[in-house]
Amino acid sequence: MLFHQTDFHEKATIGKSDFTSSACRRSKLRRCPVEDRGGLRPTALKMAMATYRPRTSPRCPHRPPIRIREEDRCVRAHRSSESWGRSQTHAGGDMNVVGVDVGATKIAAGVISPEGKVLSRARYPTARTPEKLLSGIARAVSEVRDGFEVRGVCVAVPGLLLAQEDMVAYSPNLHAIEGVRLRDELEPEMGLPLTIENDNNAAAWGEFRFGAGRGAEHLVFVGLGTGIGGGAVVDGQLLRGAQGAAGELGHVTVQPTGPRCACGNRGCLEAFASGSAIGRRAREVAAEKSWSSLGRLAAEREVLGEDATRLAREGDAAALSVLEEAGRWLGIGLAGFVNVFNPDVVVVGGGAMGAGELMLGPAREEVRLRSRSPSRDLVEVREAALGPDSGAIGAAALAKGTSGEFLL
Ligand SMILES: [Zn+2]
Repeated sequence: MLFHQTDFHEKATIGKSDFTSSACRRSKLRRCPVEDRGGLRPTALKMAMATYRPRTSPRCPHRPPIRIREEDRCVRAHRSSESWGRSQTHAGGDMNVVGVDVGATKIAAGVISPEGKVLSRARYPTARTPEKLLSGIARAVSEVRDGFEVRGVCVAVPGLLLAQEDMVAYSPNLHAIEGVRLRDELEPEMGLPLTIENDNNAAAWGEFRFGAGRGAEHLVFVGLGTGIGGGAVVDGQLLRGAQGAAGELGHVTVQPTGPRCACGNRGCLEAFASGSAIGRRAREVAAEKSWSSLGRLAAEREVLGEDATRLAREGDAAALSVLEEAGRWLGIGLAGFVNVFNPDVVVVGGGAMGAGELMLGPAREEVRLRSRSPSRDLVEVREAALGPDSGAIGAAALAKGTSGEFLL
């Protein structure tokens, strides 16, 4: 298994497909003006949405729908993605697909096999200008596919994606991607069919197809990172909503007078259970309990969310209380999602899931206390299985060919 860590600014030769130089030569990056992006300003968003028509939600071609009955549960538990694959016509043969997960800090690309295995990886820092960002995506794809036969590419991007235009209207953590017609810019450089997707939808789909949600038909995915992202698969289909903005699970209010969220509201789930929220709460607790390991660390430097996880694993009671509290808030959010979606499985992933059962244990208790029967009795709350690869694998699984067929 290959792993490439390449400095984004380091000159890399990709021959005539060197995207940086060609993009600069053209110097006419088609970045839509603010008023046409449909998302950078509330009024513009409203105008764009008035004319927006979402694409049809993808349905996994390998999975016929099955009705969920409690008596079927044991049978379903023994089904695997392999058995699904054998029973269905494979749209893409045995060829591989490139999945790209564009994050606020890094671009992670992978060549993904039809079985959902990562055959090759490339990683670049995320640039902050549109031209360099596109260059980085193209270079990551060029690097990762070297030596592999691939049938297509899917790039998963953060923010509100206007799928019909292949354009991100609003991305609070990556403004450089806003207003760029991604497919028009990237597809000619790649020479492969290109699909654009939302990053959390891709992660949800990756876990559904190849990860902790294999065998499920209804899934809720919650990604705990700097913020909280989400995605839902309902009856084997990605839930998109009227404007493609469904699944913003991190911005469900769980406490109206709670801390301010990055979105501007107060008391969103993200403000209580994300990595940044855990860090903020850890600093508060450190100030209250200066004798604890957390408190002693805070006297030396700023405490971060991952510090709370590490110290909790070492047995520090103050750090443990921070993670238990965050886990309970997470569970309050999940209980609502369980009531709304009645999923087979809730998958929790993202960088903050380094806390694992320290958060998931309390979260499960809240789900049991607050969800309604029968959902609460049957739902399983699991840790994501694909780790940091879920976005790239899920993106690859959402890649489409020229006729709109799924490639994996
Ligand atoms: Zn929010």
